[in-house]
Amino acid sequence: MRALTYQGPFRVRVEDKPDPKLEHPQDVILRVTRTAICGSDLHLMHGLVPDTRVGHTFGHEFTGVVEERGSEVTQLQKGDRVVVPFNISCGICFYCERGLTALCENSNPSSDVACGVYGYSHTTGGYDGGQAEYVRVPFADVGPLKIPDDMEDEEVLFLGDILPTGYMGAEMGEIKGGETVVFMPNRTIPGAAADLEFSSRPGVPMETAPQPLAGARAPIRWQLSGVRVFKHAGRARLPPVYGTAQPPRRLSGLLRRAAYGIPDHRARHWMLLLVADRVDVWEHRLARGLPWVLPAMGVLVVSRGVWRKWARA
Ligand SMILES: [Zn+2]
Ligand SMILES: [Zn+2]
Repeated sequence: MRALTYQGPFRVRVEDKPDPKLEHPQDVILRVTRTAICGSDLHLMHGLVPDTRVGHTFGHEFTGVVEERGSEVTQLQKGDRVVVPFNISCGICFYCERGLTALCENSNPSSDVACGVYGYSHTTGGYDGGQAEYVRVPFADVGPLKIPDDMEDEEVLFLGDILPTGYMGAEMGEIKGGETVVFMPNRTIPGAAADLEFSSRPGVPMETAPQPLAGARAPIRWQLSGVRVFKHAGRARLPPVYGTAQPPRRLSGLLRRAAYGIPDHRARHWMLLLVADRVDVWEHRLARGLPWVLPAMGVLVVSRGVWRKWARA
């Protein structure tokens, strides 16, 4: 199948990869019909998420059709159209049972960092994402939602992340109307929050007026039914994401393991990012070259022997 893969910082490429297979009776394999690019994909592409391995498929927002079904999957049938949330949840752990599925303990070996996430590095479990022709969906009875027959895939695609994340932000902010709200940064998720939380109210005019906000660069002021929303167009500093213990895998794996032992968060982050992840890139470049390099070296060694034998004779 074709898939969009990471090739090192600032480099992604569509390449051929083996089709995903059922790895567990609770898996399904989806044929991807729609996929979105999230603002969060830029952090991956910029090499800012530790333990993003070369060849990893991006994409955590997608819809698809069930092609194959594991023997323990009961809620989905072959041919069902589904939209899949970006976080992977088991449905039965302490957190999942309390509805806190984004804190699932069973979908990521590094569950103290995050639950499993599609296409979002090995820090979140190493699950290949949906910017591909096919994707493996674990715990298929828990996350995926069937798409109603009268709805198009495009209409529900953003339920995978952008829309509910924005909604959750608005809900957590306990916005009721009449407040002044600052969105930082001005990206899709705050936009989704604004659209969801306010514009759906009948008779709400939505207009923008350039009105500078002290301390903010190029803010846009949104006037929404008495709710003043400021969208900050500047860059926000992102908190670093940390990985935890992964099995050693070649030199980059050993370096990662060493990095996880560094107590200082910032030093650990940079060790992962600047050393381990860069070594990972070079290891893969080398591995791609080896099929040609080794036979070439063999030919050289043999021809040198033949030449010496000929010279002696
Ligand atoms: Zn996203
Ligand atoms: Zn769980």
